[in-house]
Amino acid sequence: MDIDTLNGLFKPKSVAVIGASSTVGKIGHTVVLNLTESKYEGNVYPINPKADEILGFKCYPTIQDVKKPIDLAIITIPAKFVSDTIDECGKAGVKGVAIITSGFAEVGLVDLEKEIVEKAHSYGMRVLGPNIVGILSNSDKFNGSFAPFLPFNGKGSLVSQSGALLIGIDAATYMRGIGFDKLISIGNMSDVNFADTIEFLDNDPNTSCISLYIEGFKDGRRVIDVSRKAKKPIVALKSGVSAHGAAAAASHTGSLAGAAKVYKSAFAQAGIIQAEDLDNLFDRTLALSLQPPLKNDNVLIITNGGGVGVLGTDAAEKYGIPLKFAPEDVQEELKKHMPEFGSAKNPVDLTGMAGNEWYFETVNFSISHKWVQGLVVLYCETAMTDPMGIAQAIKEAVVKSGIKDKPVAVSFVGGERSEKAMHWLVENGIPAYQAPDIALNAMAALREYAIIRESANDEPFTYAKADKKLAMEVINKARSENRNALTEIEAKEIFSAYGMPVTKVKLSTSEEEAVKFAEEIGFPVVMKIVSPDILHKSDAGGVKVNITDEKGVREAYKEIMKNAKAYKADANIHGIVIQEMAPWGTEVILGSVNDPTFGPTLMFGLGGIFVEVMKDVTFKVAPFSAKQAESMLTEIKAAPILAGTRGEKPRDRKMLANTICLYANMIVDLKDEISESDANPVLVYEEGSGLKVADARIILKKK
Ligand code: ADP
Ligand code: MG
Repeated sequence: MDIDTLNGLFKPKSVAVIGASSTVGKIGHTVVLNLTESKYEGNVYPINPKADEILGFKCYPTIQDVKKPIDLAIITIPAKFVSDTIDECGKAGVKGVAIITSGFAEVGLVDLEKEIVEKAHSYGMRVLGPNIVGILSNSDKFNGSFAPFLPFNGKGSLVSQSGALLIGIDAATYMRGIGFDKLISIGNMSDVNFADTIEFLDNDPNTSCISLYIEGFKDGRRVIDVSRKAKKPIVALKSGVSAHGAAAAASHTGSLAGAAKVYKSAFAQAGIIQAEDLDNLFDRTLALSLQPPLKNDNVLIITNGGGVGVLGTDAAEKYGIPLKFAPEDVQEELKKHMPEFGSAKNPVDLTGMAGNEWYFETVNFSISHKWVQGLVVLYCETAMTDPMGIAQAIKEAVVKSGIKDKPVAVSFVGGERSEKAMHWLVENGIPAYQAPDIALNAMAALREYAIIRESANDEPFTYAKADKKLAMEVINKARSENRNALTEIEAKEIFSAYGMPVTKVKLSTSEEEAVKFAEEIGFPVVMKIVSPDILHKSDAGGVKVNITDEKGVREAYKEIMKNAKAYKADANIHGIVIQEMAPWGTEVILGSVNDPTFGPTLMFGLGGIFVEVMKDVTFKVAPFSAKQAESMLTEIKAAPILAGTRGEKPRDRKMLANTICLYANMIVDLKDEISESDANPVLVYEEGSGLKVADARIILKKK
């Protein structure tokens, strides 16, 4: 990435506004007005052939007439004129263009958008938008947008795919007292996309948390890559997760929103913390922008009321950081600052009698104690206390402790005085929230961030002994026969070439051969139809299991052939496969798709009827580390079945995780060949006894 060019876009020293206007209410007027009102210190060049001056700035007929260095050109003229303007900007030596104008890919004019980007690139320019609100930056006193004002100042920076939402958020920052340094609208992402903005903000000294509102990525894989490398926390709200929502997002932005589950997994892999809704995005951004990560889950709650304490306790468990009792020595010390009827366990209940001093003493002591890794301070407004006094006591206690690597979050429940006190806390670097559960959720975000940082450097798994040559021979043979569907035998050959244990198979083309192979493999055997035209073999009556003798083989042979012909008269039948009958095991499914956003993506779930009915599956974008493969096993609801429930021994999770890695390696290695695939079922045995791929399917990409 060229930081210099992106700096030109997001932190310009000089700006031309193309389509600047003297008419109040026009976007071309509002942008110039906003630059003045935000007290922008760089040079402003309005471009308009019909005006001499706009809002005190000298106006130029074209951008080439300016003849001074220009970092950014903000374009507000109608869509049909934009392409020519790009040439003029290029010739004027502009670094980047921000196209506010809409009416491009989002209304179907994909080619026009493409042409603009190609043209801009030929001059070395980057394009933000089109279809954007603009760029707002507090630290640069730069409101290069048609949003009314700079956001409430803070340390997070937000990138939004929706322009209207960005304007709404801009205003909401004042109401909520949750600030941002930058708000960046990226609209259609014709060129500059999420990955670019993440890279830029990660290097921006005025941003400490990167906050994203996402409808859909264009290059999901790069987002994962840059996010994994980012030094700062990234928190994202993804919309369009409902089936209906996805359709709405697609028509709004011209970019297709991917499946919610794939996104969820991709976020986890990218080290992007997810927000549940808009409020949650604000709340988590606030915590992540102000506080350090929570290194382990020893969170202590200090409160003056049992009610908020219990609410906090419930929330802690709900968000994955369940409370533990503080050690004896901590309790002993805390007891000194509460009445007889208080509680020094966790939550620490100072009771309604708690004033500034008790808050100060307990916060100061707790944050300094080695057991405590994070502190949540709760307070209910009382008649005897002043919220601002409590807020100041908390802040002072933290400062005095000198501790900077343990997070603190606060919640005051009360009226206007509490509200004011919380604003003060936020301004002084301590996130404060209206309800205890929100403070605990914020703490959980800081815990998630700590965990992400620990796993950020895990190396992706690769299988050194993979036989790609063999796999390609199988694939090329199918292609030479004009087939995209591989047979089970072919698919198993490829799975095996990538190290996965498959059942022994032999293809028979006559009853006699079937008997011979069954004897070679050893009874009991399984017999299945082999035809590229019959993908779901059971549906066609094409599978017979547990065949124990010659007679059974002969009967099965005739029946399977009869069933297959009845199912599809013109099916191209290669024969009948004889395979070892794998002993019963827990059935799981592994599968893959070549996701349009993220590329080769692996799916794992419990097999059999569970997968169809429960949809209890999880995804991971390949490749990934061995550790991430292990974590997939715990991500499904049925995880306890693998761990062994009700007297059942645990399944061989180690081999399963290893097979997931091998599978991932296969779909990455063959990403140009495989469109989708699955191993369903994989039979997983007791710990130490491994597993077997009983059925395999591969669909090739169309070429
Ligand atoms: P389908 O094309 O219908 O998915 P499968 O090959 O998966 O066909 O066979 C259907 C079922 O038969 C499987 O779900 C599994 O329970 C059982 N099965 C298939 N092959 C074997 C085998 N080699 N050993 C044991 N059971 C098998
Ligand atoms: Mg199957």
